[in-house]
This record gives sequence, C-alpha cells and structure tokens, in this order.
Amino acid sequence: MDIVSRKAILRQLLAETRANKERAEDEADRVRMRIAQQVPVYADLSGTISRLLMDASRRVLDDPAHAKELSAQAQQRVLDLQKQCEAALRAAGHSPEELQPHYHCPLCKDTGFVGSPIHEYCSCIRVALMRRLYDAANIGDETFEHFNLNLFSDVPDPKTGRSPRQIMETYRNYCEAYADRFPNVKRRDLLLTGPTGLGKSFMLNCIAARALDRGIPVLHLTAYKMLDAMRRYHMGQDLDGMDMMLHADLLIIDDLGTEPMLENITIEYLFTLLNERRAGRLATLIATNLSLRELQARYTERILSRLVDRSQTEVLRFIGSDLRLQDR
Ligand SMILES: [Zn+2]
Repeated sequence: MDIVSRKAILRQLLAETRANKERAEDEADRVRMRIAQQVPVYADLSGTISRLLMDASRRVLDDPAHAKELSAQAQQRVLDLQKQCEAALRAAGHSPEELQPHYHCPLCKDTGFVGSPIHEYCSCIRVALMRRLYDAANIGDETFEHFNLNLFSDVPDPKTGRSPRQIMETYRNYCEAYADRFPNVKRRDLLLTGPTGLGKSFMLNCIAARALDRGIPVLHLTAYKMLDAMRRYHMGQDLDGMDMMLHADLLIIDDLGTEPMLENITIEYLFTLLNERRAGRLATLIATNLSLRELQARYTERILSRLVDRSQTEVLRFIGSDLRLQDR
C-alpha cells in the first residue's frame, strides 16, 4: 500500500507517452518500407532525398562559410524531390498522410511537452494526471457538483432550531469556498467530526477534487495508510511516504481513529506530523468519527489541542443519522 506521489504518476505518464511515440514511429517506418516495396519510384526518390541530405550536411561541415547558401540550395532540391515523391505515391493510390506517424496526441506528438523555448506539459498529460490523481484518491464522482443536500433531514433539531440540512448547507458552502480560495483561507486546517455515515469523507473528497482541479498538490489518504507510512518510516523501510505527508500542500486524512495504536509510533508520529505541518504553514484536513473527548483519550491532550486550536482550525460537527441506512 504505497502512497503514490504526483511525481511518480507524472514519470509513469511520460514513460507511457514516449512508448506511444515509439510505437507510432515504428509503425510509420513499417508502412514506409511496405510502400517502398510496392512503389519502386517512391523508393528511388526517397533514397535520393536521404543521400542529398547527407551530402548537404557534409558540404556544410566542409565549407561552413557558405553554410547558408549550401543548405538553401539543398532545401530547394529536397522540396522538389518531395513533390515528385508525393505525386508518385498518389499515382500508386497512396496518400502521403499514410506515411506519417499516427500519434495519440497530435498536439505534442506524444512527447508530453509543448511550447518553445519554454517547455510545458501538454494538455494530454495534465488531463491524464488529474484523472490518475482522482483515481489514487478514490474520489470518483464525489464532487461539490454531486453533493446532494436532500439526503439530509430538514426536520429542525428542537434544541437548536436548525435542521441537519441547514447545517450541511452551511458546511458545504464553507468547504467549497475553502477549496476555491485555498491557500488564501482564514483557517488552514479543518477537522470534520461526527458519527459515521454523515458524509464527512464525501466532503473531504469534494475538497480534494476541487483543489486537484485547481492544480494544487493534494495528498489524500486514510489514517490506516498514514500509519502504515509512519510505521515503515520508523522501521527505516521507506522514508518517502512520511516525507510526502510532511510536505504536501494539502494533506487529507480520512477516518482518524480507525488506525491501530502502535507503541512509539501512532501518537509520536502524529504529533510530529501535525506540529511540523503547522510550523510549515501547510494545511491538514482530518475527518474522524471520534468525539473531541475520545480524541483526547486516544491521542493525549497535546495532540487534541493541535487538532482543535481555533486560531488555525475550523471544526465542523456533522450531525444527523447515517445516510447509508436511509432509503434514497
Ligand atoms: Zn499531448
């Protein structure tokens, strides 16, 4: 259960794109060879073109002072020959397009990059990256656009006079504004508490999806996975997971409290993580089924005080009854 980094996904995507490029160009070579066999005139002409090009570059090297005129002359002859080549192909019932490599992405010709002199990732890479980050975060279609307030009861609580639906609407608006404005938010950290099945994970996924859409690096994981990375760090088996958790711009931990309690690890590393991230002014979003009292009992007072520090953290208390048990 490795934590997949954005960098690793990008590396993988670029490798796949380069493989596509090679496949497309190999296929084009095969087509060119086949057509050369079928159309001897074409084979002769393209042979002449390559010899001419080689000859021209040798001459330019021998006589650099006249490089410009030499290459201009060669260029003109090559153009003429290419036209004859094209005519020969058409006469034999082929089109010159057949000889071109068929790239997956015509924009970057499967290099993954566009722009000159400044290279940037092509939109094909950016779109695929987003899709894989969504997959890695298990977000699916859990986005603000799919957030359904009607799932929440509109019966007001007799004590507060507010219904779960009203409260959820406030939270949804708050979280959406948070995701839209991040990192320019008043309180960087969010703590979502309340019983299971009230949409806390859904809300975190909505925030993650919106942040990813905005190109913000998000690391989204369950507390179980978080602890696994801590354990591996502690054993010296893998330093990357902990490093990524310490440095992600936006770290989302779902289901805090469901991970095992490992001696010398769970509390110690969670404290380090929260502390370091706060010192680095990085945002940490946490959902937990535990109440504040249970959090304190499980993780000690010094962790609780960091989890609920009102100067930095917005605490959203989810109320109502389990949505998954209701008829929809
Ligand atoms: Zn592309």
